[in-house]
Amino acid sequence: MTTYDNRVSQEIADRLDIVDIVAETVKLTRKGNRYWGLCPFHAEKTPSFSVTPERNMFYCFGCHAGGDIFSFVMKRDGLDFKEALEMLAARAGVKLVSTSGSRDQEQRKKVIEVNRAAAEFYHQILLSRQGGVVQKYLENRGIKQETILAYKLGYAPEQWNRLEEYLLKKGFSQEYVKLSGLIKRNENRNSYYDLFRNRLMFPIFQYNGDILGFGGRVLDDTLPKYINTPETELYSKRQVLYGLYQARQAIRSNNEAVLLEGYMDCIKLQQAGISNCVASLGTALTPEQARLLCRYTENVLILYDGDEAGQRETLRAIDVLAEEALKVQVVTLPAGKDPDDFLEINGKEEFLQYIQNNKLSHIEFKINRYLKEEKTINLEVKVKIINALKKDINNLKSPIEKDYYVKVLAQKMLMEPNLIYRELQLANKRQNPTDRNKTQISRDNIQYGNYSKDEKILAAMLKDEKTFAVIKDNLGLNFLARSEYKNILNIFDQLKGNQEERLVKLGEIMQQEGMAAVYARIVFLMEEINVEEAEVNEFICRVQALKIEARWQKIYQHINFLKVEGDFENLLKFVLNLDSFLNETREGGI
Ligand SMILES: [Zn+2]
Repeated sequence: MTTYDNRVSQEIADRLDIVDIVAETVKLTRKGNRYWGLCPFHAEKTPSFSVTPERNMFYCFGCHAGGDIFSFVMKRDGLDFKEALEMLAARAGVKLVSTSGSRDQEQRKKVIEVNRAAAEFYHQILLSRQGGVVQKYLENRGIKQETILAYKLGYAPEQWNRLEEYLLKKGFSQEYVKLSGLIKRNENRNSYYDLFRNRLMFPIFQYNGDILGFGGRVLDDTLPKYINTPETELYSKRQVLYGLYQARQAIRSNNEAVLLEGYMDCIKLQQAGISNCVASLGTALTPEQARLLCRYTENVLILYDGDEAGQRETLRAIDVLAEEALKVQVVTLPAGKDPDDFLEINGKEEFLQYIQNNKLSHIEFKINRYLKEEKTINLEVKVKIINALKKDINNLKSPIEKDYYVKVLAQKMLMEPNLIYRELQLANKRQNPTDRNKTQISRDNIQYGNYSKDEKILAAMLKDEKTFAVIKDNLGLNFLARSEYKNILNIFDQLKGNQEERLVKLGEIMQQEGMAAVYARIVFLMEEINVEEAEVNEFICRVQALKIEARWQKIYQHINFLKVEGDFENLLKFVLNLDSFLNETREGGI
């Protein structure tokens, strides 16, 4: 049993999201408030491993592994609690009194520190007199002061070595500054120079607020318009979405992410209160980025530029997102407009109205796009289009949806729907059944009925103070068969604070007592369960009836014993006292 400072572990747990940590190794898909994936702790084909971000816990309905963020890392990486604490503390940016992380972690931490210092440097210069030009530029583009602060926008000055000098003077070793990618080697002179000069700087945050790299934009029409931190140990543009750190809560609560192309679009839309936007970083959307989105939502709305390039990218992004089983919608802006322009010209209300009125499902978008590409719609083209859509349409689970798109297609191509069906079926036969059906999450398979009555009552008691009080009054706290469950009730009963605080403390104690998995099982049930008053009463009656029956059984056995022994004196005594004994058993109100 490791002892540790509860405050530190609580702070770490508050800063990190269990979904993010789990998603590093498990592909998670969101369903309602939960995330599901294939359990990393036992072999399975249907996901029964679940994570609840609300409670920061995981539980596997297959192998009954479960617990909090620490339990997960301990189990996954084979760490003891102290090691898990150190690792997660480093990730959360929480200082422990003594840390002895691995070299890689140490290095990573140092480079993040370099980036943080660099961001601060750029930011301060932007806010200073030297940044006047950039401030003017941002003002012209409609960026507000609070946005500059929230995104820690900065200005990399014109000079060749300002940043390097600053960082070295701050005490960072050149090794780490090099690793950050912020300085570049000059081959001829065997020296280094700042990568970003005379650029507007956008720090690129990881979901947890760490700065992994930067994007720099020129202030005029010089090319390249944007440069990014080169790929480093820390920064891989395939794995990051711009704006996610600021947007993650909104994405989760709206259960939708708006996917944009550029930094500016992202900042401008978030500034206007459309908070659930993210942007891919000047690359075509990658599977890694799509998976990142899966952690927060099931729905993505693509809002790329209205030009040809933007529409072509939309088509590619659709396939990447659909591959991760995300539900995709598309809004096409009028030709030549990007989201930022469009918002600027029309204002927020009209912008939102436009989005509402022009949302298309990804299949409708594809249909329109394919038809637009063709000059004439002859038979050959029709077959080509149907084939291009076959995967999308065949992947639809709902026959009603399928029927709908077949009819849309039929109408647009002036064909009989039946013919399209036949063509789709042909396509279906030619294709191997896709893997996607296998990985589809069937949460219905998880038998919530597998929970015992005791577990349901325990969950109901922890969830609702009134239920807890009623049951405690009638049955006390030791009526559950499993000793772990009895413990939970007794510990919970003694905790002070409001319901929420008590649950958090209970979780900590369970973790310390090595009962994290048992507790996780109950927490998952707690989120689902809604026990009616009648059910509680029935349960109380049943437990009391069982108790009485057990007593009668004992009385009967005892009388029988005395009878057999021929001990009539004691038998008489016992029968005379039986009256008061029976009265006791009636106290439960039966
Ligand atoms: Zn499992």
